[in-house]
Amino acid sequence: MSVLIFLDQSEGHIKKNSLEAASYGAKIAEMLSTTAEGIVLGTVEDNLSELGKYGLKTIHYFKNGELNNIDAQVFIGIIAEAVERINARVIVFSNNFNGKAIAPGLSVKLKAGLVTGAIALPELANGFIVKKSVFSGKAFANVSIKSDIKIISLNANAYKILETDGTAEVIETAINIAQPKVTVKEVDKVVGEVSLSEAEIVVSGGRGLKGPENWGIVTDLAKALGAATACSRPVSDSDWRPHHEHVGQTGLTIAPNLYIAIGISGAIQHLAGVNRSKTIVVINKDPEAPFFKAADYGIVGDAFEVVPKITEAVKKLKGI
Ligand SMILES: Cc1cc2nc3c(=O)[nH]c(=O)nc-3n(C[C@H](O)[C@H](O)[C@H](O)COP(=O)(O)OP(=O)(O)OC[C@H]3O[C@@H](n4cnc5c(N)ncnc54)[C@H](O)[C@@H]3O)c2cc1C
Repeated sequence: MSVLIFLDQSEGHIKKNSLEAASYGAKIAEMLSTTAEGIVLGTVEDNLSELGKYGLKTIHYFKNGELNNIDAQVFIGIIAEAVERINARVIVFSNNFNGKAIAPGLSVKLKAGLVTGAIALPELANGFIVKKSVFSGKAFANVSIKSDIKIISLNANAYKILETDGTAEVIETAINIAQPKVTVKEVDKVVGEVSLSEAEIVVSGGRGLKGPENWGIVTDLAKALGAATACSRPVSDSDWRPHHEHVGQTGLTIAPNLYIAIGISGAIQHLAGVNRSKTIVVINKDPEAPFFKAADYGIVGDAFEVVPKITEAVKKLKGI
């Protein structure tokens, strides 16, 4: 048996979240005294043998340009075949957009127990128990997977990328792609910006900024810090910012090292998407704003006065 890790790629490069999943899966393989193998679909520019340094022994590379756009049904079919062929008994995904699209369907196809949003390595002393966060991060659940095949999707930033000095064997596999039921006609990608789901620093704005014309203070600070920008839901609902920047229960879940919230009240639905950030800084003119309870650092003040001063200080510090 082995542990199989789905390695997500975007524009030819393996995503950072997948390296976390690789390190996590490799550790599980070590705990089970078996090997960790990766699976890559699409066409990649990265040297896949270098993925050995994250503990992977083999990479199954399904090289086909048609797989660069995800079609969950097609991906599930290919991964299920690979699982059977290599006798994988644990399958690891990142709990990101693609992981959420593929893992549940794969779980049905393989009759495998699935835990989404895992935040720690499984406990093996008494079965196979995976810890996950529930109720928008308000509590934890320890879920026992009893099926023969087990699927885990790992939350972003829940497990550290660990490097060794290994090299992986890359096995290129020719495949027949089943006729997709969905065809991607066009992909509109945001270019030249730091990717929000992978960003180390995120600067986020809420309704306290009053209107889209004031967003310059958010983007200036983000630019000075090399950060991605995000927003609360009413902001994207009002079309002040694009929907892909919306974080929270109904938007993206992120876990950067630093989350700076400007003019955001800190409603539970917003916190659900950001409360796993390592350090939270809140700037709000209302000292009673609920976000201060979740903050590591807080500034009570008018964003229009405070934020430009922080941007100036960062620029001075960085010499830019
Ligand atoms: C089912 C459901 C799902 C939801 N999902 C999400 C979600 O995914 N993400 C999300 O964000 N919300 C979500 N919401 C909405 C959520 O409940 C809040 O309404 C929303 O987060 C509030 O956005 P806000 O903090 O930007 O605005 P507000 O609540 O209006 O807060 C604005 C804040 O700005 C401060 N402020 C005002 N002026 C200034 C100034 N000059 N300087 C500094 N601070 C200032 C105010 O003191 C206030 O705290 C959801 C709601 C529901 C019911």
